[in-house]
Amino acid sequence: MQFHVITLFPEVCEAYTSASVLGRAQKTDKGKGAKSRGKKLEVSYYNPRDFTTDKHRKADDKPYGGGPGMVMKAEPIIKAWEKAVGRKRDQKKVKTLIMSPRGRMFTQKLAKEYAKKYDHLVLISGRYEGIDARVKTALKAEEVSVGDYVLTGGELPALSIIDATARHIPGVLGEQDSLEDDRATTGEAYTRPEVIQFKKKKLKVPEVFLSGHHKEIEKRRSMK
Ligand code: SAH
Repeated sequence: MQFHVITLFPEVCEAYTSASVLGRAQKTDKGKGAKSRGKKLEVSYYNPRDFTTDKHRKADDKPYGGGPGMVMKAEPIIKAWEKAVGRKRDQKKVKTLIMSPRGRMFTQKLAKEYAKKYDHLVLISGRYEGIDARVKTALKAEEVSVGDYVLTGGELPALSIIDATARHIPGVLGEQDSLEDDRATTGEAYTRPEVIQFKKKKLKVPEVFLSGHHKEIEKRRSMK
């Protein structure tokens, strides 16, 4: 699967997507068997400033109708989108998302759906007062929100969506990692050492986790 991020701050996002699980999934494993070879995902970045035509490379401007702040211009974003996926033959496999606090709420269910249905996910990050509304119309994009709060930019939302979606691409998580369906987390977990000390108190790993009784451990983990 390919993720295309349109953002004024690609370097902020790159640091995150090149680390750990997401970083590994973008590499080819030469040493492993044929099945595990090959990139599971690719992440590309496009800066609207690189698609401007004026001397100052202006990617934002004042809002029509007045009001505070600046609005991201439509054309540089549309050009960036064209570079990313405009020539893809099967547009049904392309999904374009605009990060917006007023968008449809992003959920685990949507993450799973994106991973299954699309080959290309384009994530458009806003800044300032948001994005010229014609971008949404032109690109048949959907607005998505990652939570009922307002951030200063769409970079964290875009990264959240990439991260949650990538986990559903086969092979992205190692065998040891869990891809949960109904449970949102693995719940209560412990690792070494068996006892830690904090403010003169000893905190021990509960006996059941050391018992080797897998059924009991499972039961305990699924408790709230
Ligand atoms: N008044 C603007 C707020 C812009 S916040 C508006 O109503 O749209 C700046 C940018 O941050 C937005 O364009 C969007 O891309 C991003 N953003 C902020 N909060 C977000 C959220 N909860 N989910 C997704 N994107 C968000």
